[in-house]
Amino acid sequence: MASLQPPPAHATPAFGFPVECTIGQSCLIQKLVDHDPGPGRRDYRCGLLTTNGHDGIDVRLRTMADMRAGFAVVAAAAGTVLRTRDGEPDVSVDARAVTDGKDAGNAVVIDHGDGWQTQYSHLRQGSIGVRPGQRVAAGARIGMIGLSGNSEFPHLHFTVRHRGEAVDPFVGTAPLPACNSDVRLAGLWAPTAAQRLGYEPAAVITGGLASTVPARAVAERDPPPGLVGRQAPLILWVDAIGARAGDRQLFSIIGPKGQIVHDQQTVVEDGGLSWFAYSGKRAPATGWPSGRYVGRYRLQRRDAVVAQIETSGSIK
Ligand SMILES: [Zn+2]
Repeated sequence: MASLQPPPAHATPAFGFPVECTIGQSCLIQKLVDHDPGPGRRDYRCGLLTTNGHDGIDVRLRTMADMRAGFAVVAAAAGTVLRTRDGEPDVSVDARAVTDGKDAGNAVVIDHGDGWQTQYSHLRQGSIGVRPGQRVAAGARIGMIGLSGNSEFPHLHFTVRHRGEAVDPFVGTAPLPACNSDVRLAGLWAPTAAQRLGYEPAAVITGGLASTVPARAVAERDPPPGLVGRQAPLILWVDAIGARAGDRQLFSIIGPKGQIVHDQQTVVEDGGLSWFAYSGKRAPATGWPSGRYVGRYRLQRRDAVVAQIETSGSIK
Protein backbone atom coordinates (compact mmCIF):
# COMPACT_ATOMS: atom_id res chain seq x y z
CA MET A 1 0.00 0.00 0.00
CA ALA A 2 1.40 3.37 -1.00
CA SER A 3 1.93 5.77 1.84
CA LEU A 4 0.84 9.31 1.18
CA GLN A 5 3.55 11.75 2.11
CA PRO A 6 2.19 15.09 3.30
CA PRO A 7 3.77 18.03 1.48
CA PRO A 8 6.63 19.61 3.45
CA ALA A 9 5.36 22.27 5.83
CA HIS A 10 7.85 24.85 4.52
CA ALA A 11 8.18 24.37 0.78
CA THR A 12 9.07 28.08 0.49
CA PRO A 13 12.65 28.71 1.53
CA ALA A 14 13.53 31.47 3.98
CA PHE A 15 16.51 33.34 2.59
CA GLY A 16 19.31 34.90 4.55
CA PHE A 17 20.96 38.08 3.27
CA PRO A 18 23.49 36.92 0.64
CA VAL A 19 26.44 39.17 1.56
CA GLU A 20 28.55 39.46 4.69
CA CYS A 21 28.27 43.25 4.95
CA THR A 22 26.44 45.87 6.98
CA ILE A 23 23.64 47.40 4.93
CA GLY A 24 23.87 51.19 4.91
CA GLN A 25 27.50 51.10 5.98
CA SER A 26 29.83 48.75 4.12
CA CYS A 27 27.23 47.98 1.42
CA LEU A 28 24.07 49.49 -0.04
CA ILE A 29 21.05 48.11 -1.82
CA GLN A 30 21.19 49.96 -5.11
CA LYS A 31 18.41 48.35 -7.09
CA LEU A 32 15.33 46.24 -6.46
CA VAL A 33 13.15 44.07 -8.71
CA ASP A 34 11.06 45.85 -11.38
CA HIS A 35 7.31 45.22 -11.02
CA ASP A 36 6.17 47.39 -13.92
CA PRO A 37 5.13 45.06 -16.74
CA GLY A 38 5.62 47.80 -19.34
CA PRO A 39 8.58 49.98 -20.26
CA GLY A 40 8.42 51.87 -16.95
CA ARG A 41 9.96 50.88 -13.64
CA ARG A 42 8.50 50.39 -10.18
CA ASP A 43 9.94 48.67 -7.13
CA TYR A 44 7.83 46.71 -4.62
CA ARG A 45 7.18 49.87 -2.59
CA CYS A 46 6.03 51.75 -5.72
CA GLY A 47 9.29 53.68 -5.74
CA LEU A 48 11.81 53.97 -8.55
CA LEU A 49 14.77 52.04 -7.11
CA THR A 50 15.00 49.74 -10.11
CA THR A 51 15.48 49.74 -13.86
CA ASN A 52 13.18 48.37 -16.54
CA GLY A 53 13.23 44.57 -16.46
CA HIS A 54 15.62 44.30 -13.50
CA ASP A 55 14.95 40.83 -12.07
CA GLY A 56 17.05 40.80 -8.90
CA ILE A 57 18.49 42.76 -5.99
CA ASP A 58 21.77 44.67 -6.42
CA VAL A 59 23.95 44.83 -3.32
CA ARG A 60 26.77 47.24 -4.05
CA LEU A 61 30.04 48.22 -2.46
CA ARG A 62 31.04 51.88 -2.45
CA THR A 63 34.44 51.64 -4.11
CA MET A 64 36.90 49.35 -5.87
CA ALA A 65 39.07 49.50 -2.75
CA ASP A 66 36.21 47.83 -0.88
CA MET A 67 35.98 45.19 -3.58
CA ARG A 68 39.69 44.48 -3.29
CA ALA A 69 39.37 44.29 0.50
CA GLY A 70 36.85 41.52 -0.09
CA PHE A 71 33.21 41.03 0.89
CA ALA A 72 31.99 37.44 0.98
CA VAL A 73 28.88 36.34 -0.90
CA VAL A 74 27.07 33.54 0.93
CA ALA A 75 24.40 30.96 0.08
CA ALA A 76 21.01 32.49 0.97
CA ALA A 77 19.73 29.04 1.97
CA ALA A 78 20.99 25.46 2.03
CA GLY A 79 21.10 23.74 -1.33
CA THR A 80 23.15 22.10 -4.05
CA VAL A 81 25.41 24.06 -6.39
CA LEU A 82 24.07 23.64 -9.93
CA ARG A 83 26.44 25.74 -12.04
CA THR A 84 29.44 28.01 -11.62
CA ARG A 85 31.48 30.24 -13.93
CA ASP A 86 34.79 31.87 -13.06
CA GLY A 87 37.59 33.48 -15.08
CA GLU A 88 35.82 36.68 -16.19
CA PRO A 89 37.79 39.87 -15.46
CA ASP A 90 36.67 42.53 -12.95
CA VAL A 91 36.52 45.31 -15.53
CA SER A 92 33.67 47.81 -15.73
CA VAL A 93 31.51 47.58 -18.85
CA ASP A 94 32.36 51.18 -19.67
CA ALA A 95 35.97 50.10 -20.08
CA ARG A 96 35.34 47.02 -22.24
CA ALA A 97 33.43 46.62 -25.46
CA VAL A 98 31.61 43.31 -24.94
CA THR A 99 30.93 40.67 -22.36
CA ASP A 100 30.57 37.89 -24.99
CA GLY A 101 27.06 37.19 -23.72
CA LYS A 102 28.45 36.46 -20.25
CA ASP A 103 26.43 39.26 -18.67
CA ALA A 104 26.34 37.58 -15.27
CA GLY A 105 30.14 37.42 -15.23
CA ASN A 106 31.46 35.01 -12.65
CA ALA A 107 28.41 33.41 -11.10
CA VAL A 108 27.00 30.62 -8.97
CA VAL A 109 23.53 29.03 -9.20
CA ILE A 110 22.21 27.08 -6.22
CA ASP A 111 19.22 24.72 -6.26
CA HIS A 112 17.14 24.74 -3.06
CA GLY A 113 14.57 22.09 -4.05
CA ASP A 114 10.85 22.48 -4.81
CA GLY A 115 11.69 24.52 -7.90
CA TRP A 116 13.58 27.25 -6.02
CA GLN A 117 16.96 28.51 -7.23
CA THR A 118 19.17 31.46 -6.41
CA GLN A 119 21.82 33.03 -8.63
CA TYR A 120 24.77 35.17 -7.53
CA SER A 121 26.26 37.26 -10.37
CA HIS A 122 29.27 39.59 -11.03
CA LEU A 123 31.52 37.76 -8.54
CA ARG A 124 35.21 38.59 -8.25
CA GLN A 125 37.49 36.71 -10.62
CA GLY A 126 39.06 33.70 -8.95
CA SER A 127 36.88 33.98 -5.85
CA ILE A 128 34.42 31.13 -6.41
CA GLY A 129 35.04 28.43 -3.83
CA VAL A 130 32.30 25.91 -4.68
CA ARG A 131 31.78 23.43 -7.52
CA PRO A 132 28.71 21.94 -9.21
CA GLY A 133 27.14 19.10 -7.21
CA GLN A 134 28.46 20.39 -3.90
CA ARG A 135 26.00 20.71 -0.99
CA VAL A 136 26.18 24.07 0.74
CA ALA A 137 24.72 25.17 4.07
CA ALA A 138 22.81 28.43 4.50
CA GLY A 139 25.40 31.16 4.98
CA ALA A 140 28.27 29.16 3.41
CA ARG A 141 30.75 31.38 1.58
CA ILE A 142 30.59 30.86 -2.18
CA GLY A 143 32.63 33.80 -3.56
CA MET A 144 33.36 37.52 -3.24
CA ILE A 145 31.58 40.62 -4.58
CA GLY A 146 33.19 41.61 -7.88
CA LEU A 147 32.75 43.64 -11.06
CA SER A 148 32.67 40.87 -13.69
CA GLY A 149 30.19 40.67 -16.56
CA ASN A 150 27.77 43.49 -17.35
CA SER A 151 28.56 45.62 -14.31
CA GLU A 152 29.63 49.24 -13.84
CA PHE A 153 30.45 49.11 -10.13
CA PRO A 154 31.30 46.33 -7.68
CA HIS A 155 28.07 44.60 -6.71
CA LEU A 156 26.21 41.34 -6.31
CA HIS A 157 23.15 40.82 -8.50
CA PHE A 158 21.05 38.33 -6.52
CA THR A 159 18.21 36.59 -8.35
CA VAL A 160 15.61 34.27 -6.85
CA ARG A 161 13.73 31.99 -9.24
CA HIS A 162 10.81 29.65 -8.72
CA ARG A 163 10.21 27.17 -11.53
CA GLY A 164 12.30 29.36 -13.80
CA GLU A 165 10.45 32.63 -13.06
CA ALA A 166 12.19 35.45 -11.22
CA VAL A 167 10.59 36.18 -7.85
CA ASP A 168 11.14 39.35 -5.79
CA PRO A 169 12.40 38.15 -2.39
CA PHE A 170 10.75 41.20 -0.80
CA VAL A 171 7.37 40.04 -2.13
CA GLY A 172 7.34 36.25 -2.62
CA THR A 173 4.91 34.50 -4.93
CA ALA A 174 1.74 36.27 -3.71
CA PRO A 175 0.43 39.08 -5.96
CA LEU A 176 1.85 42.52 -5.25
CA PRO A 177 -0.71 44.62 -3.33
CA ALA A 178 -1.82 47.99 -4.70
CA CYS A 179 0.44 50.98 -4.09
CA ASN A 180 -1.85 52.53 -1.48
CA SER A 181 -2.41 49.25 0.39
CA ASP A 182 -1.00 48.82 3.87
CA VAL A 183 -0.70 45.04 3.52
CA ARG A 184 2.60 43.93 5.04
CA LEU A 185 4.45 41.68 2.66
CA ALA A 186 5.88 38.51 4.14
CA GLY A 187 8.46 38.13 1.39
CA LEU A 188 10.99 35.33 1.32
CA TRP A 189 13.54 36.69 3.79
CA ALA A 190 14.26 34.84 6.99
CA PRO A 191 13.30 36.97 10.04
CA THR A 192 16.91 37.95 10.81
CA ALA A 193 17.43 39.17 7.23
CA ALA A 194 14.03 40.92 7.07
CA GLN A 195 14.94 42.92 10.18
CA ARG A 196 18.00 44.32 8.43
CA LEU A 197 16.23 45.08 5.17
CA GLY A 198 14.17 48.23 5.57
CA TYR A 199 13.29 50.27 2.50
CA GLU A 200 15.73 53.16 2.03
CA PRO A 201 14.38 55.67 -0.51
CA ALA A 202 17.77 57.32 -1.04
CA ALA A 203 21.39 57.04 0.05
CA VAL A 204 24.76 58.67 -0.56
CA ILE A 205 27.18 56.13 -1.99
CA THR A 206 30.28 58.23 -1.61
CA GLY A 207 31.40 61.82 -1.68
CA GLY A 208 34.36 64.03 -0.96
CA LEU A 209 36.11 67.36 -1.09
CA ALA A 210 38.28 67.82 -4.16
CA SER A 211 39.98 70.48 -6.23
CA THR A 212 38.43 69.34 -9.51
CA VAL A 213 35.10 67.70 -10.24
CA PRO A 214 35.87 64.01 -10.62
CA ALA A 215 34.51 62.13 -13.62
CA ARG A 216 31.52 60.27 -12.35
CA ALA A 217 32.76 56.87 -13.44
CA VAL A 218 36.02 57.55 -11.63
CA ALA A 219 34.24 58.74 -8.48
CA GLU A 220 32.12 55.60 -8.44
CA ARG A 221 35.08 53.29 -8.43
CA ASP A 222 38.17 55.08 -7.17
CA PRO A 223 37.25 58.34 -5.42
CA PRO A 224 39.89 60.98 -6.10
CA PRO A 225 42.31 62.15 -3.45
CA GLY A 226 41.26 65.33 -1.68
CA LEU A 227 42.42 68.89 -1.83
CA VAL A 228 45.59 69.95 -3.61
CA GLY A 229 46.40 73.50 -2.63
CA ARG A 230 45.51 76.95 -1.35
CA GLN A 231 44.90 78.40 -4.81
CA ALA A 232 42.77 75.56 -6.18
CA PRO A 233 38.97 75.42 -6.17
CA LEU A 234 37.15 73.77 -3.26
CA ILE A 235 34.46 71.37 -4.45
CA LEU A 236 32.07 69.08 -2.58
CA TRP A 237 30.88 66.18 -4.76
CA VAL A 238 28.49 63.34 -4.03
CA ASP A 239 27.40 60.18 -5.78
CA ALA A 240 23.93 59.21 -4.53
CA ILE A 241 21.00 56.89 -5.17
CA GLY A 242 17.32 57.72 -5.38
CA ALA A 243 17.22 61.54 -5.72
CA ARG A 244 13.88 62.72 -7.11
CA ALA A 245 12.71 65.80 -8.95
CA GLY A 246 11.71 68.37 -6.33
CA ASP A 247 14.15 67.18 -3.66
CA ARG A 248 16.30 69.95 -2.18
CA GLN A 249 20.03 69.45 -1.83
CA LEU A 250 22.13 71.47 0.57
CA PHE A 251 25.87 71.75 0.14
CA SER A 252 28.04 73.39 2.74
CA ILE A 253 31.76 73.61 3.27
CA ILE A 254 33.10 74.68 6.65
CA GLY A 255 36.58 76.10 7.07
CA PRO A 256 39.32 75.40 9.63
CA LYS A 257 37.95 77.94 12.13
CA GLY A 258 34.36 76.78 11.79
CA GLN A 259 33.45 79.51 9.30
CA ILE A 260 31.10 78.69 6.45
CA VAL A 261 33.11 79.15 3.28
CA HIS A 262 30.49 77.83 0.89
CA ASP A 263 26.75 77.28 1.17
CA GLN A 264 24.40 76.42 -1.64
CA GLN A 265 20.90 75.01 -1.94
CA THR A 266 19.50 73.68 -5.18
CA VAL A 267 16.40 71.81 -6.24
CA VAL A 268 16.85 68.51 -8.06
CA GLU A 269 15.23 68.94 -11.45
CA ASP A 270 15.41 65.43 -12.74
CA GLY A 271 16.78 62.90 -10.30
CA GLY A 272 17.18 59.25 -11.00
CA LEU A 273 18.29 55.96 -9.72
CA SER A 274 21.79 57.32 -9.54
CA TRP A 275 22.58 60.95 -9.00
CA PHE A 276 25.88 62.79 -9.20
CA ALA A 277 26.06 66.34 -7.91
CA TYR A 278 28.67 68.88 -6.89
CA SER A 279 29.02 72.45 -5.76
CA GLY A 280 32.04 74.55 -4.96
CA LYS A 281 33.96 77.77 -5.12
CA ARG A 282 37.14 79.24 -6.59
CA ALA A 283 39.89 80.13 -4.14
CA PRO A 284 39.90 83.71 -2.85
CA ALA A 285 42.70 85.95 -4.19
CA THR A 286 44.71 85.39 -1.02
CA GLY A 287 44.21 81.61 -1.18
CA TRP A 288 42.31 79.36 1.24
CA PRO A 289 43.55 79.44 4.83
CA SER A 290 45.35 76.17 5.52
CA GLY A 291 43.72 73.60 7.76
CA ARG A 292 40.93 71.06 7.82
CA TYR A 293 37.75 71.61 5.80
CA VAL A 294 34.48 69.75 6.31
CA GLY A 295 31.93 69.18 3.56
CA ARG A 296 28.29 68.43 4.39
CA TYR A 297 25.63 67.33 1.93
CA ARG A 298 21.98 66.72 2.71
CA LEU A 299 19.22 65.57 0.39
CA GLN A 300 15.79 66.64 1.65
CA ARG A 301 12.38 65.42 0.56
CA ARG A 302 9.69 67.70 1.96
CA ASP A 303 10.91 68.08 5.55
CA ALA A 304 12.83 64.83 5.87
CA VAL A 305 16.53 64.31 5.24
CA VAL A 306 16.62 61.18 3.05
CA ALA A 307 20.39 60.98 2.51
CA GLN A 308 23.44 62.78 3.81
CA ILE A 309 27.19 62.64 4.08
CA GLU A 310 29.92 64.48 5.94
CA THR A 311 33.43 64.38 4.55
CA SER A 312 36.65 66.26 5.17
CA GLY A 313 39.97 67.21 3.64
CA SER A 314 43.00 69.36 4.44
CA ILE A 315 44.67 72.24 2.67
CA LYS A 316 48.33 72.66 3.56
ZN1 LIG B 1 21.33 43.92 -11.03
